[in-house]
Amino acid sequence: MDLKLYDTLTREKRVFRPLDPSNVRMYVCGPTVYDFAHIGNARPVIVFDVLFRFLRHVYGADHVTYVRNITDVDDKINARAAEEFPTLPLNEAIRKVTEKTDRQFHDDVAALGCLPPTHEPRATEHITEMRVLIDRLVKSGNAYVAEDNVLFSVASMPDYGRLSRRSLDEMIAGARVEVAPYKRDPMDFVLWKPSKQEAGSAAGATGKANKSEPAWPSPAGIKTPGRPGWHIECSAMSWKFLGETFDIHGGGIDLVFPHHENEIAQSRCAFHTPVMANYWMHNGFLQVEGEKMAKSAGNFVTIRELLKDWPGEAVRLTMLQTHYRQPINWTVAGLREAQTTLDHWYALTGGAAPGLLCADTIDALADDLNTPRALVALHELRGEAAKGAKPAAASLKASAGLLGLLQSTSEQWQACRLASTDIDERKVVGLIEARNAARKSRDFKESDRIRDELAKMGVVLKDTKDGTTWEVAR
Ligand code: AMP
Ligand code: ZN
Repeated sequence: MDLKLYDTLTREKRVFRPLDPSNVRMYVCGPTVYDFAHIGNARPVIVFDVLFRFLRHVYGADHVTYVRNITDVDDKINARAAEEFPTLPLNEAIRKVTEKTDRQFHDDVAALGCLPPTHEPRATEHITEMRVLIDRLVKSGNAYVAEDNVLFSVASMPDYGRLSRRSLDEMIAGARVEVAPYKRDPMDFVLWKPSKQEAGSAAGATGKANKSEPAWPSPAGIKTPGRPGWHIECSAMSWKFLGETFDIHGGGIDLVFPHHENEIAQSRCAFHTPVMANYWMHNGFLQVEGEKMAKSAGNFVTIRELLKDWPGEAVRLTMLQTHYRQPINWTVAGLREAQTTLDHWYALTGGAAPGLLCADTIDALADDLNTPRALVALHELRGEAAKGAKPAAASLKASAGLLGLLQSTSEQWQACRLASTDIDERKVVGLIEARNAARKSRDFKESDRIRDELAKMGVVLKDTKDGTTWEVAR
């Protein structure tokens, strides 16, 4: 079996050949931690988790290194910290915001069934590596110092723009470039910038919180303390954990330009390499009920809110119904359908130990992570399992596992389904027993009445030859 992946850089689906099959290396841009992650942010996390699982399946669990960074230095973080903790020194407020958001993010993505990456480096813990890269770029003539900023000189790299395939004019229009008098070229981007420092630091001295921005010793001989630009973070952390060139770099399609274009420029010029990563993979965007998700549109959905009403696996399955490169239209109807599917799968695979992996599922995933096709294969297994084929049920369990699904026991699934409703499980069990007793004494009027009562509570009964089971209706 050949794994094929679509590479944004060459615009083609190619057979994946790792640089080193004993250590397949993947980097994915992670979250900026200042607020709850939304359902759009969940998409790259789930998509690349499926790829991580599949690479582990193909190359062995110990032969894949997956790095997903945490951006914990950013203007948005500073603004949120000042707003949320106005009386604290800014640096302390920032720490509170980033630590809390980081915890929330990890809880959320764990509930979506995502494995922890091998490394999750934080930007603020890799400032030294960033400074080393910046010094190199200045030395090689790819970057210059201007008014205590360090800027990357786009003109110094003849093939800048290859990933996004845009002309310089298009890039200028698209990037909403910051026009600054000290830039040699409007496209030049920031590698390092000065941090605003407030005189008379300590909070106690003036009775007011110190508003100084986070600051570190600057590179390139700049005397005033500063902080890194966003793009340099990923070049530094991917270098540290994966080396100068690695196999796969991923993220959402919005990151192609300018973020990934600029990462490529930095890393290739710093290391004098022809490529940064051999495969660039980008997930499509997610819209909610046909519209762009935005706080102002009132359709902004956080992962946390969704998990109050839906099991994490239902969210995950909904996401995987669409191929990762296509846009997703996120709907409640889609979630409901995914949940019903999982109800059936859990009911059928209840006591089954994982069996053989289904070849069609593997083939579909090997074809540029075609999850919708992989799911069709699982539905076929479901059909066979429903007819009583035990190996099909066992294979369904194992193959769904490759997608990070059916990871709970049936009991856990039922409990999770119940938690998102107001149904009292003990009452349901009591009513089912009463109904069984009524049926035994051939009091069908009473047994029908109980069935109706349960239906009103949102419980659907299923009578099988092994007894009565029940599910939560939606
Ligand atoms: P951010 O925290 O905005 O930098 O985003 C973190 C990750 O989520 C990046 O890989 C983005 O490309 C991705 N992302 C953000 N919004 C969406 C969306 N609506 N649909 C899909 N991916 C998204
Ligand atoms: Zn990045």
